[in-house]
Amino acid sequence: MKEIVVVSGKGGAGKSTITAGLSYFLKKNDVLVDADVDAPNLKILLEPEPVEEKDFYSGKQFKIEQDFCIRCGRCYHECSFEAIEIIKFDYVIDDIACEGCGLCQFICPTNAISVADKLTGKKYISKTKYGFKMVHALLNPAEENSGKLVADIKKVAKQLAKEQNASTIIVDGPPGIGCSAISAVSGSDIVLLVAESSISGLHDMERLIELSQNFKVKRLGFINKYGLNHDIDEKLVNLFESKGIEIVGYLNYSQDVPQYLKKKVNLPEYVEGYKKIFESLYKRIMEGVE
Ligand code: SF4
Ligand code: SF4
Repeated sequence: MKEIVVVSGKGGAGKSTITAGLSYFLKKNDVLVDADVDAPNLKILLEPEPVEEKDFYSGKQFKIEQDFCIRCGRCYHECSFEAIEIIKFDYVIDDIACEGCGLCQFICPTNAISVADKLTGKKYISKTKYGFKMVHALLNPAEENSGKLVADIKKVAKQLAKEQNASTIIVDGPPGIGCSAISAVSGSDIVLLVAESSISGLHDMERLIELSQNFKVKRLGFINKYGLNHDIDEKLVNLFESKGIEIVGYLNYSQDVPQYLKKKVNLPEYVEGYKKIFESLYKRIMEGVE
């Protein structure tokens, strides 16, 4: 079984468009993962129907039990994160400001502060319109630990792929170079580095290449919006070549692409020219795995 992770150094580089295009060629028993848990958007093009849903817990949630609180104010004054507020004479913990250090619980004279695992998101296994299953998740707003959630759904995807005797897992990685991107790349066979032909696209790709060289994983390059800026195109080609990264595909800049995406069109599904581009890209990536 091979695992291919699609990443870009920034949001908006076209990573999810490329992943959705590649997924068109997956077999029904293969598995797709949307690892952009802060803003998953593959669902727009693939119309997944959830078949399994699970809660994701991460970190701790502290709560003041009002029946036991004698309103001494110790927790309020000692919390270094100003996470305790007074609402109508009651001391209450603000979940977003709370860093979970546990000091308030430790110093409370009446043991009025309880702690429980914190529900921070949801994980899903869904059936897509193409028949293969997609593992995806959604982290609640302002929650942290996206790296843990990404690692979690990758584990679910691997188990599912094993059960279904899948040959391929494709992962749409999170944008950027943070811990969730590192989590997405860990343990994969191939990383497809999607660069956008823009100044920020070049800068972010330089950082992503630097990060990815720490992983023992084969890297392939892809340039999106090719032709938008000829000077940057040349610099991106030189950058990939200087790092020994083979460029396996290009998608020319076209104002039609955002129009198709606006209409929720997965490029290879309805446009013959794009079908050929993605088919050839899929083939070259698979050759890279062998
Ligand atoms: S330290 Fe305990 S008793 Fe005092 S205000 Fe805080 S929760 Fe209430
Ligand atoms: S757990 Fe720490 S950060 Fe959260 S309210 Fe208590 S003292 Fe403040």
